[in-house]
Order: sequence, then C-alpha cells, then structure tokens
Amino acid sequence: AVAEFTRAGAAQEAARARWREAAAKPAVTPDGHAASVCVNSGNTDSLKSFRADLCDGVGLFRTEFLFMDQNDYPSEELQYRASRAVAEAAAGKEVIIRTLDIGGDKQLGYMDLPKEANPFLGYRAIRICLDREEVFKTQLRALLRAALHGHVKIMFPMIVTLEELRAAKAAVARARASLRAEGVPCADHVPLGIMVETPAAVLLSDVLAEEADFFSIGTNDLIQYTTATDRMNERVQYLYDPCNLSVLRAIQTVIQNGHHAHIPVGMCGEAASDERLLPLLLAMGLDELSMVPAQVGRVKHFIQNTPFATLKALPAEVLGQREIGEAKRILAQYEKEGL
Ligand code: PEP
Ligand code: MG
Repeated sequence: AVAEFTRAGAAQEAARARWREAAAKPAVTPDGHAASVCVNSGNTDSLKSFRADLCDGVGLFRTEFLFMDQNDYPSEELQYRASRAVAEAAAGKEVIIRTLDIGGDKQLGYMDLPKEANPFLGYRAIRICLDREEVFKTQLRALLRAALHGHVKIMFPMIVTLEELRAAKAAVARARASLRAEGVPCADHVPLGIMVETPAAVLLSDVLAEEADFFSIGTNDLIQYTTATDRMNERVQYLYDPCNLSVLRAIQTVIQNGHHAHIPVGMCGEAASDERLLPLLLAMGLDELSMVPAQVGRVKHFIQNTPFATLKALPAEVLGQREIGEAKRILAQYEKEGL
C-alpha cells in the first residue's frame, strides 16, 4: 500500500509540475485555436493571491462578499476601492464584475429579505437590484468609476427576460448620468453582459444576444434550474449532472446564439473546469472558461495538448446520444487522450 501511494503521489506531483508550467503559457491548441482561461474571484483572500500573469483575466468577480463581510450596506467608496483594486491587479486584462447576487442560498440580516418557501425561485439577484434602486445605483456608480482603472465589464445575474436586461442597462445609464452631473469621473463605455443561468435565458438567448455585449454561462444554477434539482440538496445530487444531455444542449444553444450575434460566450460555473466536459466545451467554440485559480494550469495544459481538429466531430457525436451514460462514455475517450 505504501508503494502504491508513493507512486500515486509522485505521479500527482509530476502532473502538478506540468500544470504549473502550462499556466505560464497561453491557452492555445497545437493547431492554433485559442480560448481564454480566466479565474473566478469572490473574497478578499483570492484578491491577494491573484496572479494576472497566469490567466487571461477575471471571468467572474462575485461582489457578494463586499456585502456579506459587513453589518450594513457597503458604501459606494468601499465598493469602488475593491473594484478598482481588482481592475488594477488584472493589469489591463479583462475583469467581469457581477452585480449583487444575493438571496437564494445567500442571506443578509440587514437587507431584511423575506423568508420564502422557494428562495432559489424567489427574490434574489437582479430581481432585488431592480426593486431596490438605491442599492443597485450605489454599486453601479462604484463600478463605473472603477472602470476607469482597467478593462472592466459589468455582468447581471439571473436574467430571465429582455425587459430585465433593458431595465438593468437603463439603471447603468442613470448611474452614469448622476456621476456626470456631480462631476465625478467615470467610464464612458463599459460592456454590459449577462449570466445565462436560467432555462428562460437559454431559450431567449437569440433575443438577449442582440442587446447584451457578452454571455457567461452559469452552470451551477443552470443545471439546478434545467433539471429541477436543488444544488444544495444531497438527496438529489445524482440528478445534478453537468453531463445531462438537456444541459449540454442548453450550452450549445447559448454558444450558437451568442456567436450568431457576434458576441463572446464564456462559462463561469464549476463545469468550466470539469475535465469530462473540457473537450466538448472547446469543440463547441466556447470563448472563455473561468474557474477557481487552482484549476487554471490543468485546463491550460489540456488545451495546449489537444489539437482542435481532433475534436470537430465531438459535439454532434455527444449530442446525438439519448442517454447520459452514452454521452459520458464518448467524453471519457477524449479525456484520456488530452490530459
Ligand atoms: C453559476 O450559477 O454558475 C454561478 C457562477 O453563479 P453562483 O455559483 O454564484 O450562483
Ligand atoms: Mg448563479
């Protein structure tokens, strides 16, 4: 047993060394297909250890921690300083800052949110922000100011309708106008995109793509809402499967509709670093994968060692299946080849 564990440990260490090396190089396949590999960030610690030279930017900056670390609403100044810090740390690389996604599993005493029977289907994220204009406006003002210090993009979570996207964009315009009226410097143009994490947004993605500057697929919620499976409930975890064919179809639809409208499509849910899905996501043409920093080297290593041409047939092959097990069997063959 000792010999076996020693061997496994050495193999793991060798793999880690390869991944560290891979992290320092761009994510391009041997035949020249590039994909951005970014990091998710969502607390003060992750900001301290952030290394812009090892990734293509921040694909998801969760702003909830700014609200959760406090006993009261964070001021515009505090939010501005945190957003500016991440924008500067990214050194010119993209930083996608997501507006407040509170509610659902994340509660805040001082916000006085109602107790709900189905919080994941209730008052959360953009629904709260559009309802509480002052909270939203304070955050948007902070982000528009921070955008002067880097390549900032703003992303709205939990979008379900075009009306919500339009209302969020109008709130950005009002926040900018209020800054200008006060003579406060802010960015003139900040790309405004959405998380695609509801089946509604998937089915409407052709329409949403015409008015959003980018998409980021949030698989953590998309799997939950597509399969009607609570992401926090262990008893139904067997259904919470990123390889579920309905989820894979949803991902393909979003990428196709995004590209049809010439906007970039990324993914910032956990599935973006799921080794079973990497070949498929790459083959489907996903432009950006965003993940916890620890996964960046492994994902870049996979991309750097997988000729894009060998993946051409994969989407049709996988999505042509009827059973999840069959799709997984096909994906497993590619997984071995690449890593
Ligand atoms: C997601 O839903 O995939 C996502 C990235 O958002 P969160 O996990 O914060 O809900
Ligand atoms: Mg989500």
